[in-house]
Amino acid sequence: RAKALGKGIALEYEPSMHAELRRRSEIEAALPLAIHNGEIFPYYQPQVDMISNRIVGVEALARWRHPSLGWISPGEFIPIAESSGRICDVGQLILTAACESAMQLPADIRISVNISVAQLIRYDVVDLIKNVLERSGLAPARLKLEVTESIFMKDGDRIFATLRALKAIGVGISLDDFGTGYSALSYLQHFAWDELKIDRQFVRSLEAEEESHHIVDAVASLAGRLGIPVTAEGIETREQHLMLRARGCKFGQGYLYGKPMTFDALRQAVKEDGHARNVIPSYSVV
Ligand code: C2E
Ligand code: MG
Ligand code: MG
Ligand code: MG
Repeated sequence: RAKALGKGIALEYEPSMHAELRRRSEIEAALPLAIHNGEIFPYYQPQVDMISNRIVGVEALARWRHPSLGWISPGEFIPIAESSGRICDVGQLILTAACESAMQLPADIRISVNISVAQLIRYDVVDLIKNVLERSGLAPARLKLEVTESIFMKDGDRIFATLRALKAIGVGISLDDFGTGYSALSYLQHFAWDELKIDRQFVRSLEAEEESHHIVDAVASLAGRLGIPVTAEGIETREQHLMLRARGCKFGQGYLYGKPMTFDALRQAVKEDGHARNVIPSYSVV
């Protein structure tokens, strides 16, 4: 009987599950070489000041172009890199490329890089990041690290200590995807965040759902009172831009201002935005 049941289940689920697992292990197996061969690299998405519409920062977003599998989205390969122990290598690679790229941008533009929990719980994480900054020559104040609420699920106290050590070397810390995870207001109370990013899901429903207005209002006013700058993610329309700006969001990121793009395209966008070229970073002025 058990055999018959097992067979029935297998018949029903095996084909799609098999394909999914196969794709997953294919990606997992391809990761080491991809990291080694430079198949993984960042694209850059502008972040703008919603009053002046000028580019104030860029977020580095990992991209993977595999020679036979084609483009693999970070939504697919980042979780696989996380579960297979490769995320530290991927993260290090993106951080290094992003800092080197930022050095070629005007000094008033900051660079944001996403950091996973596996990177943060390494005993040497502060030294690793410090070394990347030193080797690239980037001023720590120009780097912002984006973390999500999920990092506090395990050992919150230790993570907060690490984030404080990173702030102590001058790096900014941003709370990404705010409102989608295990949000607890104590996260806002116990740490001096440099930025709070309102998740795309709230922005997307602004035009259709009254509740989103209340949520965005509440988040923007709370952050405002705590002195934390707010960036809204996933702004695609002018209506969303106007609504968010009216609700006190200072910064915006989304297809309306620019999709994630190659560094060359980003540099062109920055130039067209009117930023001075070849700005000498203030810390190296003699
Ligand atoms: P995230 O950090 O929240 O990044 C924002 C995501 O929203 C990006 O997706 C971006 O392309 C997308 N996006 C921005 N504006 C719009 C818009 O107007 N409309 C729409 N539909 N989408 C928009 P992406 O590049 O696919 O990255 C997905 C997630 O993968 C990121 O979410 C981040 O959590 C993770 N990720 C990407 N790169 C890295 C990395 O280097 N390290 C780590 N640990 N995670 C990364
Ligand atoms: Mg992010
Ligand atoms: Mg986000
Ligand atoms: Mg996200």
